[in-house]
Parts: sequence; structure tokens; C-alpha cells
Amino acid sequence: MSKKGKVLGDVQQPKLQIDPTKLDTVECEDCGGIFFEEVTMFKDVPAVQSPNGKKSILPIPVVRCVECGNVPERFLPKEMLP
Ligand SMILES: [Zn+2]
Repeated sequence: MSKKGKVLGDVQQPKLQIDPTKLDTVECEDCGGIFFEEVTMFKDVPAVQSPNGKKSILPIPVVRCVECGNVPERFLPKEMLP
């Protein structure tokens, strides 16, 4: 265990420090846009598979490109699409 830098009181540095400026930006595969928004898709849950025995819906958060509306596959596996 080596301490480096100035340690203030009992504040401990997280073991894994992520510097966002050194990370790759996720870009839209279609238009290269870098901004995304979260939308929600819903799955019908049949009564037989529902925890409470009643037909219901399951919300699934999906991220899409704000520029072109493309949903990157890394955010939504193909199997999830209708
Ligand atoms: Zn796009």
C-alpha cells in the first residue's frame, strides 16, 4: 500500500479512477452523432410468465441517437426487437 498525492483526512481515492477525457466517445454507427437519449420500449408479459399472475408490460430502457434515431446494437440486442 503506497500513498501518493495529498490525502485529506480520511477521504480515500477510489481504486479505479476513470478519466472521461481519455475514453473513446461512443458514436452513432449511422451518422456519427455523439448524443443519445433514453427512450422506453415495452414488452408484453403474458399472465403465465408474470410474477403476480396477471398480464402486464415490462418497460425496457433503450438508447437512441438524437440525430437520426438509430439504436446502436450495443445498446439493444437484435433479439429484443420485434
Ligand atoms: Zn445517428
